[in-house]
Amino acid sequence: MGRFMEKKQVLKQYFGYDDFRPGQEPLIESILAGRDTLGIMPTGAGKSVIYQVPALLMDGITLVISPLISLMKDQVEGLNQAGIHAAYLNSSLTMNQYFKALEFARMGRYPIIYVAPERLLTDSFLDFALHAKIAMVAVDEAHCVSQWGQDFRPSYLKIVEFIDRLPVRPVVSAFTATATAQVRDDIIDILKLQEPLVMTTGFDRSNLYFGVMSPKDRYGAIRNYIETHPGDSGIVYCLTRKHVEEVCERLRTDGFSVTRYHAGLTDAERRKNQEDFLYDRVAIMVASNAFGMGIDKSNVRFVLHYGMPKNLESYYQEAGRAGRDGEPAECILYYSGQDVITNQFFIEHNQDNQELDDFTRQLVQEQDRERLRKMTFYCFTNECLRDYILRYFGEYGSNYCGNCQNCLTQFETVDVTDAARAMIKCVEVSRQRYGVNVILDTLHGANTAKIRQYRMDENPVYGVLSKVPSHKLRQVMNFLLLNGYLSVTDDEYTIVKLTGRSAELWAETAPPLMMKMAKEQERAPKESRGKKKKLKTAGSVVLTEEEELLFEKLRSLRAQLAREEQVPPYIVFSDKTLVFMCRQKPADRSQMLEVSGVGEHKFEKYGERFLAAIAEG
Ligand code: ADP
Ligand code: ZN
Repeated sequence: MGRFMEKKQVLKQYFGYDDFRPGQEPLIESILAGRDTLGIMPTGAGKSVIYQVPALLMDGITLVISPLISLMKDQVEGLNQAGIHAAYLNSSLTMNQYFKALEFARMGRYPIIYVAPERLLTDSFLDFALHAKIAMVAVDEAHCVSQWGQDFRPSYLKIVEFIDRLPVRPVVSAFTATATAQVRDDIIDILKLQEPLVMTTGFDRSNLYFGVMSPKDRYGAIRNYIETHPGDSGIVYCLTRKHVEEVCERLRTDGFSVTRYHAGLTDAERRKNQEDFLYDRVAIMVASNAFGMGIDKSNVRFVLHYGMPKNLESYYQEAGRAGRDGEPAECILYYSGQDVITNQFFIEHNQDNQELDDFTRQLVQEQDRERLRKMTFYCFTNECLRDYILRYFGEYGSNYCGNCQNCLTQFETVDVTDAARAMIKCVEVSRQRYGVNVILDTLHGANTAKIRQYRMDENPVYGVLSKVPSHKLRQVMNFLLLNGYLSVTDDEYTIVKLTGRSAELWAETAPPLMMKMAKEQERAPKESRGKKKKLKTAGSVVLTEEEELLFEKLRSLRAQLAREEQVPPYIVFSDKTLVFMCRQKPADRSQMLEVSGVGEHKFEKYGERFLAAIAEG
């Protein structure tokens, strides 16, 4: 039988899926052909299957190097549930457990072993590895080898030394979600990949809706969102610990089921809160960016950002934790101008790169600033948000996705020449000394203490744009910054400055300055979106009332089984698989195996009980 059939059979039998996702198959082919392989794919695209499927087909053991203990545990649990023997070797094991696992490994019990990079060169592990048949080394989160990436880990440099010591060089595969050319080249060089197949793929997550908002009352906006999505599981990311605490506390006071996560909590609290969220005991996690590495909860229906992350890599990774089951989910970024300043502060005071020499450190900082600029532009753009992201990661989308705020908003093209001239004039006559807010308040004619103190109310342009709503003024200002008619200084004061282009708007031959703006009546469509969608948990698939009852029933059966097995519910079956069951109503084993997400092993474990529940109706 050809390999084509084999890998598909493995996918079906163990993982219960009928088809590979785009990009998975060529990478699997490459590995099976014995070629080194580098897959650049975003979180949730399905990287694990790419090394797990070949691991089951190759003659020998696959070692998966992963930096994250929580991820290893989750993956191994998932594999065990699918009927695959797998183990992890890391510092969370006791000595006894560790040696027991190594003993089983020696007996050839595990086709897949997850191992922390720090273990690789230890005597006990080498003693095992040098005498075993290692078919593949799969390096997860491979950007950790690069100082240019966000999470450089010196222990990752040991990987290549380890591989060099093996008697036979295994296939080396590497996976990351970081797409910059520098990181990619570092991975190839440092891991010494041999003529690897390099593929960037799967960055498009078409089930995710993207939106950007800049509401006056950020907390109110977020509360409103959560209120209109009752019962949905979601994450609210905040920039700082302080915000995590505040937002979590206010949501709790407002009666929502929430918990929190950030690096300042005790280990015990973090573990408990994380589990409460994973096991669906609480619906909403308010967290800093410390949360989520290796979290594979599949039914997260929304990821809200209370504040703009430092770059699109982080944003897309965090937002990408929504909708991992492939069902519709929403990612909305609520930003304020202050976020840019906070992030600039983080960049200036980044302690991670202390080992670097001055020159390199400056280069890294410059890169970080550039990434931050691109993140900021994401908040301003009127173009398709998905397209913006895909282009950033080096993929090409169409410039209309139909599932982001900009694609769904009606725009009109407006002549903003007068407003633009007034802004530039204001910057000029106040001698380039003020930030965006003072400039806009002046033009709008605000009567605040600050404006009076700076005597901007005596400025000739004071109040000349008082008829234009302030959010529109802000959009025009952003537009001018984005297109280089004005700039802001790169320090904590962010002073607005003139640029070489500022004078262009007065040139005789200059065409009017046109800008796309959202049509007024079309703004604030969020609540209605929220309510409309409430028909069903599973979004696109609208269940009938009867199917919905069945869904709830299967959900509680799943919760019960999860408790019995002591695993998170999504490890038993994903929401999506339950929805399929409700629609297809399988009546016997073979029909049940048709359901996407039901593999043979899971059928043996749970199939009969779900069949019985479905038969009961
Ligand atoms: P990553 O490691 O890239 O972040 P995972 O490997 O955890 O992503 O996969 C994300 C989800 O997609 C998992 O729930 C996984 O079971 C599912 N998945 C992977 N491949 C397929 C497929 N071919 N068809 C359907 N679901 C898949
Ligand atoms: Zn779009």
